Amino acid sequence: MKFETRAVHTGVDKDSAYNSATTPIYPTSTFAWDNLTTNRGFDYTRSGNPTRSALEENITSLEGGYQCRATSTGMSAIVAALHLFKPGDHIIAGDDIYGGTYRLFADVFTGMGLKFSFVKMREPGRVEAAITSETRCIWIETPSNPLMNLVDIEAITTLAKKSNLITIADNTFMSPYLQRPFELGVDVIVHSTTKYLNGHSDVVGGCVVTREKELAEKVAYTVNALGLGCSPFDAWLVLRGVKTLGPRMEAHQRAAQAVAEMLAAHPNVEHVYYPGLKSHPQHELARKQQYGFGAMLSFDIKGGRAEAEKVFERSKLFLLAESLGGVESLMEYPETMSHASMTLEARREAGITEKTIRVSIGIEHPDDLVADLKQALDF
Ligand SMILES: *Cc1c(COP(=O)(O)O)cnc(C)c1O
Repeated sequence: MKFETRAVHTGVDKDSAYNSATTPIYPTSTFAWDNLTTNRGFDYTRSGNPTRSALEENITSLEGGYQCRATSTGMSAIVAALHLFKPGDHIIAGDDIYGGTYRLFADVFTGMGLKFSFVKMREPGRVEAAITSETRCIWIETPSNPLMNLVDIEAITTLAKKSNLITIADNTFMSPYLQRPFELGVDVIVHSTTKYLNGHSDVVGGCVVTREKELAEKVAYTVNALGLGCSPFDAWLVLRGVKTLGPRMEAHQRAAQAVAEMLAAHPNVEHVYYPGLKSHPQHELARKQQYGFGAMLSFDIKGGRAEAEKVFERSKLFLLAESLGGVESLMEYPETMSHASMTLEARREAGITEKTIRVSIGIEHPDDLVADLKQALDF
């Protein structure tokens, strides 16, 4: 069956008692056994819960994997994936990965003995040069945040296979509707389901998807042992959201393309970062490895902080907020918000300046979004 059909139906049917159309929420910590050796497939909610299983089956199908574990946040999904490695192991990641992931790697896991190199991953040669005899994993995040640099997934997995390395992709920005890293040779996928998979800005969650048994068992073990699984209610919310992923992504990116084209032509805009524009240096790679261009974009305005402030003040539709992937459009200022934890030097090195504004395009009508941003830019 096709993607949209699987999104609506896979895993959902969990009510053998009344045949409800939607999955019941099972708010229970424990499940009674029939006798000393048999239960109905669940014994304790940290280890497994029918509502969470419904979501896990659904996402497994959408990514084309073997197994999924739904976690309490995107960060806990990443924590689970990192437990595939042990002290002394070396991991290569991009130098423009999600800030929370950078903090977890450079601070928490470095403190526990893992080693990291952060390289410009849009150039596969730099990844190859960073591989040592201790390297075990390449961490892929594409497109990057906020400047929408792409990583050539297939080039990286080809490299990884030569050296027997595990590849893990954070697929949050694209969602499985627009990018399926398993098809390009990736071993493990993580998501912040907080973003497009849920899509309604009303829950935080994450997941780890694996495509073969051995890694699946290790991840499942860690999620249970560390207690990272999400609550039945949160699983239910994400499952509710996931059913409309396809149609939402279509609406998101239709509006994003319209906004990007308006921005590219606006006299008060210096540069637009959106892979759907032909002017994006990796537009062809985006066409090759993605099923669309997504709905995250950034732009540099003419001027600086004072002008940026006017844009935020004048806009009536875009909420001034971090996060992304919800039905409502958001706008934020990486300099003081999402990327404030980077040093000033690191921000400038990455290309983030006082001119940079990041936008998460929602599913409002493109005409309204274009009109609102256009008037906001007439500062
Ligand atoms: C938001 C995000 C995360 C972290 O997810 P949380 O649900 O906030 O814990 C990780 N990676 C990317 C790319 C994100 O956008």
